[in-house]
Amino acid sequence: MKKAIVFGAGGFIGNHLVKRLKAEGNYVVGVDLKHPQFSKSLANEFITADLRIAANVDNALQGGADELYQLAADMGGAGYIFTGDNDANVMHNSALINLHTAEMAVKHQVKKIFYSSSACIYPAFNQTDPTNPLCSEESAYPAQPDSEYGWEKLFSERLFLSFQRNYGLDVRIARFHNIFGPESEWQGGKEKAPAAICRKVAQADNSGEIEIWGSGTQTRSFLYIDECLDGVRKLMDSRFSEPVNIGSEEMISINNLAKMVIALSGKKLNIKNIEGPVGVMGRNSDNRLIAAELQWKPTAPLLEGMKKTYVWVNAQLTAQVPQ
Ligand code: NAD
Repeated sequence: MKKAIVFGAGGFIGNHLVKRLKAEGNYVVGVDLKHPQFSKSLANEFITADLRIAANVDNALQGGADELYQLAADMGGAGYIFTGDNDANVMHNSALINLHTAEMAVKHQVKKIFYSSSACIYPAFNQTDPTNPLCSEESAYPAQPDSEYGWEKLFSERLFLSFQRNYGLDVRIARFHNIFGPESEWQGGKEKAPAAICRKVAQADNSGEIEIWGSGTQTRSFLYIDECLDGVRKLMDSRFSEPVNIGSEEMISINNLAKMVIALSGKKLNIKNIEGPVGVMGRNSDNRLIAAELQWKPTAPLLEGMKKTYVWVNAQLTAQVPQ
């Protein structure tokens, strides 16, 4: 039986990944500051630990692992990473986790490590046109991410690649593009656009309005969690060790995403565009490299995943209403 360790196992993607790895027959150890919020972890062992502390990373990796998935990070949606208020914590906390992880993975002879980077590493100057953003892997340089979150991700990509070059660490790196689905943060400030829009629509009166940050013409693509995990597992099983996009190419404006959710709800709602943190004006996954190297592409339309996400967010709200 293979042993897989998941850092960030209490988070959205980490908790889903633990389920997937268990279903594939692995012995899974989860590590996080906290247990998952919305369902019990299926990990064989769950260690509650702060991975900013080297001794905790050292301890978690005792005995090594066949696979280590490093997903732990201080992160959130636009309301968390684009306001500037959390920059120091985002950089400091995530960099510490990654520095210790790289060092201890070598010390404990972890056989293969996955690192979750982000589309936020791509240069701001290539993402000013909402209809035609450039996010091919080689366009990452010359670098100019639009957030400190993106800079830290780029630094850590380079960190893991350096450990690969100098210490033989076997590395896989994915640049995730907006992963969404049930059991993600949906309130409280760290939620991302799909869950936030589902919440706003579910909370709105039948013929009211919802607020959307910015002009709403900014574009993004969104990848459903199950498809993201298909990509991650495929990458991990491959020999491809350069950073690669894992995302969808179904680009949509944020106002149109809101319209999609409004239609799903059956309500008659207006959209009010207000001032707010928006990030770059356009972003879309470029899947040419992953298609060529791994013969992988996502298949489910955005609408399908949004339906499941809306149903789940709506159920959370209903559960909160006192009877
Ligand atoms: P998440 O916030 O739900 O999960 C991250 C987890 O890391 C949390 O459970 C958190 O408690 C844990 N963590 C933070 N600091 C820690 C510490 N000091 N010690 C131990 N655990 C700590 O986020 P997610 O959406 O599941 O994202 C997982 C990874 O994928 C992150 O690295 C994120 O940057 C990356 N990513 C996600 C997306 C996305 O759309 N969700 C996009 C790009 C990249």
